[in-house]
Amino acid sequence: MINVPNCPQCQSTYTYEDGNLFVCPECAHEWNMEVETTNEETKVIKDANGHVLSDGDSVTVIKDLKVKGSSSVIKIGTKVKNIRLVDGDHDIECKIDGFGEMKLKSQFVKKA
Ligand SMILES: [Zn+2]
Repeated sequence: MINVPNCPQCQSTYTYEDGNLFVCPECAHEWNMEVETTNEETKVIKDANGHVLSDGDSVTVIKDLKVKGSSSVIKIGTKVKNIRLVDGDHDIECKIDGFGEMKLKSQFVKKA
């Protein structure tokens, strides 16, 4: 279903669709349909500096991070290789030497 918008020129609600155009019968204004291309499948995950991260990237931890359920801390400056982007609150999955599989938040890393 396509929602025919009001005429942008005279705000008429009697607009109709004609092929790829919208037509206003009141002021004869014609305009193009604006096709919005929002792809919600692609979630952009950015690091602390706003750089877009992708699978396989290497990042550096920019903040000491406590490891849940242990007394270990992932130190600031720790390099993490080959990250994997996932859905959720912690949007990076990775393996850190000495820690194993970890989940990180993209806001606490920067692209190496
Ligand atoms: Zn109009």
